[in-house]
Amino acid sequence: MKLLYTKAEVQSWTKNIQTQGSTICLVPTMGFFHAGHIALMKRAGEIADTVLVSLFVNPSQFAPGEDLSTYPRDFAADCQKAESAGVEGLFCPDVQEMYPQQSQTSIKVESLSHQLCGKSRPTHFNGVATVVTKLFNICGADYAIFGEKDFQQLAVIKQMVADLNIPVQIHSLPIVRESDGLAMSSRNSYLTGEERKQALCLSKGLCLGRKLVASGILDSRIIIEKVADFCKDSAVSIDYIAIINKSTLDESPHVDGQALLAMAVKIGKTRLIDNGFLLTGDKDVSLNA
Ligand code: AMP
Repeated sequence: MKLLYTKAEVQSWTKNIQTQGSTICLVPTMGFFHAGHIALMKRAGEIADTVLVSLFVNPSQFAPGEDLSTYPRDFAADCQKAESAGVEGLFCPDVQEMYPQQSQTSIKVESLSHQLCGKSRPTHFNGVATVVTKLFNICGADYAIFGEKDFQQLAVIKQMVADLNIPVQIHSLPIVRESDGLAMSSRNSYLTGEERKQALCLSKGLCLGRKLVASGILDSRIIIEKVADFCKDSAVSIDYIAIINKSTLDESPHVDGQALLAMAVKIGKTRLIDNGFLLTGDKDVSLNA
């Protein structure tokens, strides 16, 4: 696996691959790899001939007071894991390389960025859209893949790529979970033993939502209320619980095949998100089926 530190290095690496007729799938990440990241890398290898991973903890998507300085990092372990997953290039620029001067330009995806997570993190998606645009421009990959755990990020990026005619095809991957249902996240490493138990209110809340739907309750207000009551029992602080259309992120008053239950909670200092379809058409409403 080739380590690429500069824009110039990654540009000549990708150009060399593409002039030989091979395709590249980019997997943008912030590192501290878990099985969700590895699954993305493996899927990327099915989509394109060559997998390029970017590892960059992007300061512009963290607001002052958020966890930029404590964000978990383990570069040596990440290199090993990426190489074992078949990654051929790892672009790992430093902040100076990505933001060499005071930027005057940023990308804003208007409506989609202000809903859900955007309400409590009003600058987050501008930072994401801007860095992902920079990564697309630097890498020139044919494809890029993102996880559905960050469903709002995925919606923002798809919209941005369409609006700006960015020549990259976007793919996505379903959420990878721990055996007890908790969605994998680098931020799970912040949780104490007790908080780790409380965090299960997300996936269990989602299961509860599915059970309610399976029992015939399709009114979003009732489902949200019951899931919120359930989460309150776990003593977590709820940022939002919403039933939305997966593509538009608009609230759905009634559950249909496109309705996603989306949740964000704070457990101690750790903010976690989760989501899933409510109408699975499946008798088994558990998450690890
Ligand atoms: P991050 O390093 O947290 O910025 O995530 C990098 C990519 O991995 C993003 O596209 C995330 O949506 C994706 N990802 C993170 N956690 C998971 C998960 N549990 N399952 C699937 N994809 C994930």
